[in-house]
Amino acid sequence: MRKPYIAGNWKMNMTPSEGAAFAKNLAKAVEGTNTKVMVAPPFVTIPAVVEALKGSDIIVAAQNMSDNLKGAFTGEVSALMLKDLGVTNVILGHSERRALYGESDVFINRKVLLALSEGMDVDLCIGETLEEREAGKLEEVLSRQVSEGLKGVSAEQMQHITLAYEPVWAIGTGKTATPEDADAAHAFIRSLVEKLYNKGVAEELIIQYGGSVKASNVKALMSKEHIDGALVGGASLSVEQFLPIVNFD
Ligand code: PGA
Repeated sequence: MRKPYIAGNWKMNMTPSEGAAFAKNLAKAVEGTNTKVMVAPPFVTIPAVVEALKGSDIIVAAQNMSDNLKGAFTGEVSALMLKDLGVTNVILGHSERRALYGESDVFINRKVLLALSEGMDVDLCIGETLEEREAGKLEEVLSRQVSEGLKGVSAEQMQHITLAYEPVWAIGTGKTATPEDADAAHAFIRSLVEKLYNKGVAEELIIQYGGSVKASNVKALMSKEHIDGALVGGASLSVEQFLPIVNFD
C-alpha cells in the first residue's frame, strides 16, 4: 500500500520568521495525521523551519540544490550544507527550474544521483507544457524526463525517489488536469518505471500530482488509483488551505 504523501512547495515565499510561525501552526494542525507531510521552504528559511518543527513528523525539503558538493560555485547551496541543517529531502527538476533557469534532464540527473549518494530522498518533478500536450507529445516528454532523470538510479535507490507529475499548464494557473487525465498520465509513468525497473519498484513508487491542487479538488484526485499524493504550491501557504489538503479523506 502506498502511503499518501502531501508536500508544500513554498517557492519564493515566507521569510524565516514567517516560515517559523507558519510551521509551528501547521505542526499543531496536522498532529496525528496518517499522511506523510513535507514542506519545502526557501533556503534561508530552512533553519528557522527545522527549528520550529522539532518534535513534529513534518519533513523539511529544499526546493533545489547544487550539482556539486563544494567549491567555487557562487550563489549555490550544496547537499552537505542542507544535511548539516537536518534536511533529508530535496525537490529537483521543478518546471520553474527547467523553464526559468534552463535546467536540462542531464543536469537534473546529475543532482538526482548526487542527492541519492548523499543519502537524501528526492522528489523529482516531471510534466509537459501545453504546447507539448497539444502537439501529442505527452508520452514522449514523460518518457524522456523519466528515463533521463533516473539514469543511473538503481532499483534499490528507487525507494528514495518520489515522482511529481506536474503538467506545466496547470501550475499556478487555476487549471487542474481532470482526475482522469492526471490518473492516465500517472499510470503511464508507472508503466515506464516498470519497464525501466520491475513491477515491484513501479507498484511501490509514490507519484504525486501537482498543479493548482486545492481543498476542492484534492479528494477527486486522490481517489484515483495511480495518484498517491500532491505537490502543492499556492495552497500550501496558509494552514486554512493546506490542512484540508493533508486531510483529503
Ligand atoms: P500550484 O504549484 O499548486 O501553485 O499550481 C504547484 C507546484 O508548482 O509545485
